[in-house]
Amino acid sequence: MKIDKIEAFQVAVPFKQAYTTSYSTINEFGHVFIKISTNEEVVGFGEVSSLPEFTGENLGTITEAVRQLGSVIKGCDPFDLEKIMSLMDKEVKFNNTAKAAIDFALHDIIGKSLGVNAVNFIGGRYVEKIPLSWSLTSGEPGKVAAEAVKMVEAGFDTVNLKIGANPDEDVERVRRVREAIGDKVNIRADANSAFTPMQAIQLIKRMEKYDMQYVEQPVPGWDLDGMAEVRRQVNVRISADESVFYLHNALDVIKKGAADIFALKVAKMGGIRRTKQIATIAEAANMPCMVNSNFEVDIGVSAAAIVAASTKVVQYNSEITGPLRHQTDVIKKGVEYRDGFLIPPTGPGLGIEIDEKKLERYRIF
Ligand SMILES: [Mg+2]
Repeated sequence: MKIDKIEAFQVAVPFKQAYTTSYSTINEFGHVFIKISTNEEVVGFGEVSSLPEFTGENLGTITEAVRQLGSVIKGCDPFDLEKIMSLMDKEVKFNNTAKAAIDFALHDIIGKSLGVNAVNFIGGRYVEKIPLSWSLTSGEPGKVAAEAVKMVEAGFDTVNLKIGANPDEDVERVRRVREAIGDKVNIRADANSAFTPMQAIQLIKRMEKYDMQYVEQPVPGWDLDGMAEVRRQVNVRISADESVFYLHNALDVIKKGAADIFALKVAKMGGIRRTKQIATIAEAANMPCMVNSNFEVDIGVSAAAIVAASTKVVQYNSEITGPLRHQTDVIKKGVEYRDGFLIPPTGPGLGIEIDEKKLERYRIF
């Protein structure tokens, strides 16, 4: 089988409710959908979202990188993932999100041509369903606590708070959420690189009494010495998200003792294959992981879900809830959520069905 053609589409997907992190408030997300065709009539789809403040890649750069990468992998056998990843890394540095879109479509093609779900050739199901964490949008503490109560009632046993704008308000939100949901629910927080090490230490120490499950990325991704210092000083686990895009980043975080947990993201890490490799590095360091996302819709979330379902070191609840927050009619059959869990699709490839007629409206090339 040979890769014949790559097509790209830019799809705007509005949020049901605006979402605030330490970077920005989000009302709408731009997604790049890609379609890879082969000479044997099997086609695969990939989908990633544009989150430039996090990844450095926007709609335009993702689309252009896909165009350029497409020209070098044309003619390759889609089964030759190792060779294709290596060709792509040689052709275009970085741009993991664009590479991930291609990796997803290739897993979709391989699965469809074998008649099996992609989870079956990346390790099989270690778990049948994926427990989720719900990320609360930042805002007035009473409103945040009310959202937490609503999601716990809907079946979630873990909630995440976005922190970083104002330490006093961050502590107040955590206090109100803990008071509202009781002791049995996990609370974690994500600072999205907002603090200096000293600010992070002071803030996390104030939060210790609320039994935090972990705090993610308290300092910028590059500041591994700072993160290691935070980790030594506080009695809360530290998770690395912005610190880990590449295999060598994972090794550096481990060598520096900068984190207790890796946040695995299939788009940030360049696809399913690279993410599984980073999970293996984590396993070698006896380090648990969680899977989160850049608010992809069903294709990107299915890719993340099969990593979560097939990987033993994914021991903390995943944050792969994009389709609960926003939706596009381009997706004909998507992932299924039930009582705070994601049930991974079982259909061939990534198990997602696309309405190609509707997708056509968004064609770039
Ligand atoms: Mg994060």
